[in-house]
Formats: sequence, structure tokens, C-alpha cells
Amino acid sequence: GYQRVLEENRKLYNQVQDLKGNIRVYCRVRPLHGQVRGFGSVEHLDEGSITITTPSKYGKEGKKSFTFNRVFGPSASQEEVFSDTQPLIRSVLDGFNVCIFAYGQTGSGKTHTMSGPDVLTPETMGVNYRALNDLFLISEQRKDIFLYDVSVQMIEIYNEQVRDLLATDGLNKRLEIRNSSQSGLNVPDANLVTVTSTSDVINLMNLGQKNRAVGSTAMNDRSSRSHSCLTVHVQGRDLASGAVLRGCMHLVDLAGSERVDKSEAVGERLKEAQHINKSLSALGDVIASLAQKNSHVPYRNSKLTQLLQDSLGGQAKTLMFVHISPEYDAIGETLSTLKFAERVSSVELGAARANKETAEVKDLKEQIANLKAALAKKD
Ligand code: ADP
Ligand code: MG
Repeated sequence: GYQRVLEENRKLYNQVQDLKGNIRVYCRVRPLHGQVRGFGSVEHLDEGSITITTPSKYGKEGKKSFTFNRVFGPSASQEEVFSDTQPLIRSVLDGFNVCIFAYGQTGSGKTHTMSGPDVLTPETMGVNYRALNDLFLISEQRKDIFLYDVSVQMIEIYNEQVRDLLATDGLNKRLEIRNSSQSGLNVPDANLVTVTSTSDVINLMNLGQKNRAVGSTAMNDRSSRSHSCLTVHVQGRDLASGAVLRGCMHLVDLAGSERVDKSEAVGERLKEAQHINKSLSALGDVIASLAQKNSHVPYRNSKLTQLLQDSLGGQAKTLMFVHISPEYDAIGETLSTLKFAERVSSVELGAARANKETAEVKDLKEQIANLKAALAKKD
């Protein structure tokens, strides 16, 4: 009796908590390259914390520990990494805006997490495919209640210019980022493609990858110096009431976060580095400003933060995958990545607001109120 009511209450409370918005940070360490044994600079890791050793020849000797919402070690599978992300995917169908992004130095595993390795199998597929696959599955389960429309855009931000990666013509056209309040599209001129299956998504991603390679030379791997963003727009029509719910998810593979040696970088390379530096620090500034509840949040300081504006802050849910290269010679970047992540993860952004409060949330709140009343009577 009483115990069950109490338990039920707790479960519902957790579900509502789960729908609240803040920034989650998951840290992922990739395996050491080659046949190297051991764990490199990673001294210890468990589900929620990671400890890095800094041997004296790489600077001050010592250990540094960091805690995050989750930590995934070198042997974590793509499926494991995705499994904690699933509740976010579901919330897109409930009308929330979601942003999932991959941060880390070049070679740390960002693309591996988001897309997967070159050879894609059901096991190796990354977050992008799994997220869309989940959207299709859940929308199928809800088909008697909602009619969902799922469409995607894929863009690249390179040197503060926005390009359409799904363009079939006029590839180099520069795109504008607009306020999305009207249409729900904040890059209205980028090709918007309706998708209904994972194979649709694979075809589009292949096109995107091909377009991304255009303009990069062998010497200049552009993909590590640009941000790429797969945006999924979901529109659900409530079949009974006709009400329309709109959710949006940005899946962002960020440019490499490594600092560039100013004495070495010149010309184009220096310009790229400055743009990346500017946009990643703009991202940090936006998050810090949200944390301090400043009335002015500097979204306009970079194309990246303009693009993600609706998905960063009190109305949205954000997940950052932070990637670590375990090699000793990456220790400097590893520490600066972990410090950035720590700053980001200490942020509590308050309750996320669905674009329209869903029946589900309303129902849960009502049930909690009823259970509380029942408990009060018992006392
Ligand atoms: P980034 O996009 O951050 O530059 P990549 O995702 O391209 O890095 O990863 C660099 C290399 O390491 C690739 O060859 C990739 O396949 C491999 N790699 C990255 N993460 C993992 C992992 N978790 N397990 C196995 N291999 C990985
Ligand atoms: Mg990459």
C-alpha cells in the first residue's frame, strides 16, 4: 500500500526530473593507437570520473581527477555510448529542442562517436544514425496518436561561413542564419530533405561527406577545421486535436579544439585557427553566461552559437560528448579539454520547456499531485 505509493511517486518524480533541461557532459576515451599496451595518460576511470596522470617530463607531475555525468572507457561500444542518449531522442518527439555535440582535439574520436568509422555496420554506426533510427521506431509506435514528419538539413561552418552540405547545386553559396521562431528553420535556404528510413539517412550522409571533401586538399583536412551539423526537424500532428508539436535536434561534429602554435601557423591555416578558437570560446561564453543567468547571452558572437541558439539554454536539452586522446603527448590538450568540459558540466540551466507542454508531462504532474495528496492523508 503505502510503500508502493511512495515508490510510484519517486518514479514519476524521476521521470519529470529527466525531462528537465541542463547540460549533460559525457567523457569518452578512445583506445590508444597501434599496438600500445596500457592506458596512456589515463590513470583511472569509472562510470562517472576520470583521473589523468601527468608524468614529470610533460610538465608538473601529478594526478588530476574530473567528474562527469558519464565516462566511457576505450572498450565502450557504440551501442553503450548511445544508450544513455536515448531519452533525449524521445524528447525531440515530445517537442523539445535538443543539441548533441562532439568536442575534442583532432583525432580524439569525435567523428567516430557521431558518425562511426569508415566501414559502417549495425555495430559501428554512430549517434547520428542511431538517433534517427530511434526517431523512426518511436514515431511508428505512436502512429495512432501522432503523425510525424522527419526531415534533415546538413550544413558546415568553415571560417564563419555557412555552407549547405546537401546542396545539389550552387555548393558554395553562403547561407544566412535566421531567427527560427516562424518556420522552425533557422537556415531556411539549406536543402531540407524528408527521411523515412535509416537508409535514406545513410545516403544523405554520404552526399554530405562527399560535399565536405570538396575544396579540401590532401594537405588540408578541412573536416577537422570546420563544424558540421546535422539538423533533424520533427513535426508531429496530434491526430485527435490537430495540434502541431515541433522539435528539433542538432547533431554537431565540432572542429578540432587544439590550440595552434602561433609561431607555426601562417596564412590560411592561421585564419582557420582563429575562426575555430573564436567559435569554441563563444560556445564557452554562452554556456557560462547561461550559468550566471545573465540577461544578455552573447549568442551572436559566432555562427556556431547563432545556429545552436534555440538548443542551448533553458528551453532545450544539451549533451556534450567530450573526447580524450589517451597518448601522453596529447596531455596538454587533454587537460585543457577536460577543464573546458568541467566548466560546461557545472551548469544547471533550469527546467526545459517543451515547445508545447506535452500531454505526457501534464499527466505526470497531475499524477504526482494526486499521489502527494494520497500520501498526506496517510500521515
Ligand atoms: P576526430 O573526428 O576527433 O578527428 P576520429 O573520430 O576521426 O577523430 O578518430 C581518429 C581515429 O581513431 C580514427 O581512425 C577512428 O576510427 C579511431 N577511433 C576513434 N575513437 C575510437 C573508438 N572509440 N574505438 C576505436 N577506434 C576509434
Ligand atoms: Mg573528425
